[in-house]
Amino acid sequence: METIPYSRQSLSDDDIQAVVDVLRSDYITQGPAIGRFEETMRRHCGTGHAVAMANGTAALHLAALALGLARGGRLWTSPNSFVASANCGLYCGATVDFVDIDPADGNMAMESLEEKLVRAEREGALPDVVVPVHFAGEPCDMARLDELRHRYGFKVIEDAAHACGASYADGRPVGCGAHSDITTFSFHPVKTMTTAEGGMALTNDAAAAERMATLRTHGILREPVPAGERPDGPWSYWMVDLGFNYRMTDLQAALGASQLSRLTRFIDRRNAIADRYDRLLADLPLRRLRRGHSGRSAVHLYVVRVDPARTARTRAEIVQALHAQGIRVQVHYIPIHTQPFYRQLGFRPGAFPEAERHYETAFSLPVFFDMTDDQQDRVVAALRGILEPGSRPE
Ligand SMILES: *Cc1c(COP(=O)(O)O)cnc(C)c1O
Repeated sequence: METIPYSRQSLSDDDIQAVVDVLRSDYITQGPAIGRFEETMRRHCGTGHAVAMANGTAALHLAALALGLARGGRLWTSPNSFVASANCGLYCGATVDFVDIDPADGNMAMESLEEKLVRAEREGALPDVVVPVHFAGEPCDMARLDELRHRYGFKVIEDAAHACGASYADGRPVGCGAHSDITTFSFHPVKTMTTAEGGMALTNDAAAAERMATLRTHGILREPVPAGERPDGPWSYWMVDLGFNYRMTDLQAALGASQLSRLTRFIDRRNAIADRYDRLLADLPLRRLRRGHSGRSAVHLYVVRVDPARTARTRAEIVQALHAQGIRVQVHYIPIHTQPFYRQLGFRPGAFPEAERHYETAFSLPVFFDMTDDQQDRVVAALRGILEPGSRPE
C-alpha cells in the first residue's frame, strides 16, 4: 500500500536543472544565485530588503538580534507553534512568554494579547518583541496587532514559516512588511516552497537588514571599510560584531528562485485541496479551522479537531488507525510551554488552556502540491471508516 505523507516537496525538471547549473558554475556558495533569489523574493513580496539564511530558525534568531533583543529583554509568542518561534528569544538571552490562541484558527488571540499587555504595562514588564505565527498558513489579524504594536511600543517579527505565498486581508503578500518589523520564512521541504534547508528575513528597515546580513556571516565586513579602520591589504576584513555562519548556499538559492516561479500555483492547488476536504469532511465529527478570515491562507497544513461531543474515538485512536493504513497524518503542535525544557524554566501545563485543548484534539491531514484527488479520496474514505464504524470505506 502506497504511503501518503502529510507533506512533501514538489520538484520539477526546471528546479533540478537550476541546481545542476550552479554545480557546474564557479561558485556553489556565496555566489550570484543568493542575491538573485533575494531580489526575486523581495520583489514578489514588495519589500525593501531580503536576507537569505541557512534555515528559518536562523532567520528568527537574527531578526530578534537585529531588533535589539538582548539579555533582560522579553519576547512573547504563540504556544501553538514549533519550538523555534520561542527559542529565538532564548538564544538572545531574553525571557520568553506566551499568549494563548484563538481556538477558531489556532493563531495568537488578539484579545488575550491585549489583556496581557494591559497587565504587563501596569507591572512595567511590556514585551520588546512579539512573534505572531501564521498557523497552518492562515494570516494572523495583523491590522489589530499593528494597532497594539503602536500603542505599546513593541517590535513585531512575523514567523511566516507556514505562510510563504499567503496574503493579508488587503491582498498584499505576507512578507511585504506593512504590519511588522521583520517577516521570516522557512524553506524546509514540508513548507509551501523549498530550498531543502533554508530561510529568509524580509524587512523595510534598512539598518535591520544590514545587521542581519553581517550577523549571518560571522559579523565580518569587507567593504565598505568600517569607519576608523584602514586596510592592511586586499586580504583585509573586519569582524565588527559576534555573528554566526547562517549562510544559504547558491545551490539552495537557485532551487528557491526556481520554486518561487511556481509559488502561486502551489498555493492555488493547496487551497483547492483544502476546499475539497471542507466539502468531503463536512458531515464527519471533525471541527475545521477557520480559513480565509484575515487574508488568503497558504494552506501549509490542513488541521482538523476531533469533536468529542460527536464521536467516542480519541485523536490517538484516529491517528494510529490512519497510520496503520499508510496515511501519515501529523499533530501540530505540542504546546511549546509543555516541553521539558520550558517546564524547567517554570512553565506549567494549564497555563495556556486553549493551546492545550487544541493539542488534545488536533491532527493535520495530508496536503501537498502533487497530491492527487485519488490520494485525497483515500484519506477521506479512511477517516469515514474510522469515524463511522457502521459505514464501509469505498
Ligand atoms: C518550520 C518552522 C520554523 C523553523 O524553520 P526551519 O527552516 O526548520 O529552521 C519556525 N517556525 C515555524 C512555525 C515552523 O513551522
